[in-house]
Amino acid sequence: IEAAAGQHGLFFPPLPSSGDISTIGGMIANAASGMQTVKYGEIADWVLELEVVLADGSVITAGSKAVKTSSGYNLRDLFVGSEGTLGVVTRATLELAGRPEQIKGGRALFATLDDAAAAVSDAVRSGVDVAKIELLDAEAATMSNAYTGADLPDQPMVFLEFHADHGIDDEIAFCEAVLADHDPERFEIADEERMDDLWRARKDLAPAIDEYDPDRVFRHPGDVTVPISEYGTLIAYAKSLAGEYDLSIPCFGHAGDGNVHYAILVDPDDPDEAARAKEAHSRIIERAIEVGGTATGEHGIGQGKRGYLVAEHGEEAVEAMRAVKRALDPNDTLNPGKLFPETADGERVKGTLPDAE
Ligand SMILES: Cc1cc2nc3c(=O)[nH]c(=O)nc-3n(C[C@H](O)[C@H](O)[C@H](O)COP(=O)(O)OP(=O)(O)OC[C@H]3O[C@@H](n4cnc5c(N)ncnc54)[C@H](O)[C@@H]3O)c2cc1C
Repeated sequence: IEAAAGQHGLFFPPLPSSGDISTIGGMIANAASGMQTVKYGEIADWVLELEVVLADGSVITAGSKAVKTSSGYNLRDLFVGSEGTLGVVTRATLELAGRPEQIKGGRALFATLDDAAAAVSDAVRSGVDVAKIELLDAEAATMSNAYTGADLPDQPMVFLEFHADHGIDDEIAFCEAVLADHDPERFEIADEERMDDLWRARKDLAPAIDEYDPDRVFRHPGDVTVPISEYGTLIAYAKSLAGEYDLSIPCFGHAGDGNVHYAILVDPDDPDEAARAKEAHSRIIERAIEVGGTATGEHGIGQGKRGYLVAEHGEEAVEAMRAVKRALDPNDTLNPGKLFPETADGERVKGTLPDAE
């Protein structure tokens, strides 16, 4: 999509970091978002119209090509994030944006994680117009340095990108002034050509974590998202659990959205470590929900997080979700075993019928 849009001077702003390995249907089904969501919003904001095949084989159109509508139930948004459980998306009309005239980016290094997290929260709440604002804790920075061979200090970093058609340097100066309250040790900005060098530590993070410790595997990919006012305390909580359970939990992610990604590294031959990791992961998710956030900002519930659906939404809301499922897929044909808590035990979604003989 980026290649096609790029030929016309356009781009697709909510593309996830995994955009080059994701399908458009998968992004829509997962309510994906990306590094630029802090400025441009998530995929739902860029989907106009969908063609969807329902469980009974009928084909419907949800939404329209107009930028707004008050007509009927909003089925388009119902399918966005439905994880393939309500219908199969077979066509999508997406909005695109014009490429900004000016793009600059860079990074700020901080002595402590508290400073880095507070700086992000302050920048967002002060209305700094960033197109990306991503955080890496010191552990993630170490892993990234080891993988990329960069000689950055192993300390918390905030990566930034700015988009504008004019006046970009004023916005960068405003950002620098806000971050200055949190004592950055370095604040570096580059134009588009040099930006890849500055951003490499963030871009290569997934393989960097994967390869860091040959004795450990990447378990429990965390995706909690909290109100930006809770961002610093949530990330500090995750790090405190790493200490309490004696685990390695590198934290990173789309900080401007309050999205904390983390990985828990686990020795697959150590059942005690695996159990501690599972408990720490649960406690991070429970805390995110407690402070008004969500178990998953962009990866979806799938199988891994169905145990948190009721804690996040309440039994009545989950029952309302089941009512939608029963109405559109009464035999639980589409993507069975996903999303609803009872499917963890191999049951159908409550109230759906066995397939007709
Ligand atoms: C390294 C890495 C980085 C990532 N970064 C991000 C990120 O920045 N933001 C983000 O949001 N996610 C991210 N993800 C998660 C994931 O890649 C995205 O959510 C992506 O959009 C999923 O698309 P997919 O095509 O891979 O879907 P799949 O994983 O194949 O499917 C996801 C779900 O959607 C359903 N589905 C697929 N196609 C359709 C369709 N046509 N109609 C209905 N249902 C369908 C599937 O049944 C499944 O339940 C990341 C993953 C990795 C590994």
